[in-house]
Amino acid sequence: MKQKEITLNTLVNGKNVSLSELTAEEIGNNHIMTTIETPMKSDAFAASDEEKMKKIEFHFKEIMETLGLDLKDDSLKGTPERVAKMYVKEIFSGLNPANKPKIALFENRYQYNQMLVEKDITFYSNCEHHFVPIFGKAHLAYISNGKVIGLSKLNRIVQYYAKRPQVQERFTMQIAKELQTVLETEDVAVIIDAKHLCVSSRGIQDINAATITSFYGGKFQDENTKLEFLRYVEMKTQY
Ligand SMILES: [Zn+2]
Repeated sequence: MKQKEITLNTLVNGKNVSLSELTAEEIGNNHIMTTIETPMKSDAFAASDEEKMKKIEFHFKEIMETLGLDLKDDSLKGTPERVAKMYVKEIFSGLNPANKPKIALFENRYQYNQMLVEKDITFYSNCEHHFVPIFGKAHLAYISNGKVIGLSKLNRIVQYYAKRPQVQERFTMQIAKELQTVLETEDVAVIIDAKHLCVSSRGIQDINAATITSFYGGKFQDENTKLEFLRYVEMKTQY
């Protein structure tokens, strides 16, 4: 299912403004997302992974040399190749739909129609405005509509969307929409609790700030259901 584009109004310095009124710099500095879908070029996958790695290697070498680094040094000379491989094969591999986890659904034979919560899923992503890490925990829940998925698949969906340049709001929405699509139900909830290195290691340098985003669909918009989920998330596990 293709996700809809959303038009987003957002608060900037306490003022509600439409995205079209903002410059690219304002959007980046305020960590605002423009669409739920990761903005991709139409020819995003025309080149193979190998071709992409060669190109990134070349350009990353240029960046390092521009910064004044001596690439003849043994410690540095392999870096462009390592970065290129890491970008394409690891930390940005979730840009390629070919790497999307295959999700098999099972019939819910036990007629379990209560909430299922998978919490404390650790993820590592990267901020699309600064290309530095965002990391934290994802907490997911759904109420089965007759179908269930393997628990590890919930984790894999998080990891897939984490492996892209991201903004936390979009990351949250992408996971939520994917869960709704594969589970064939509106009744899903997602909380992302994350630390942004672009906030803690540079810029304002606040090492304690955490960013929380959430999505509550269907039955989770009911206050009691939402509170039940939040209680499970807060609960100390006994092991
Ligand atoms: Zn950032």
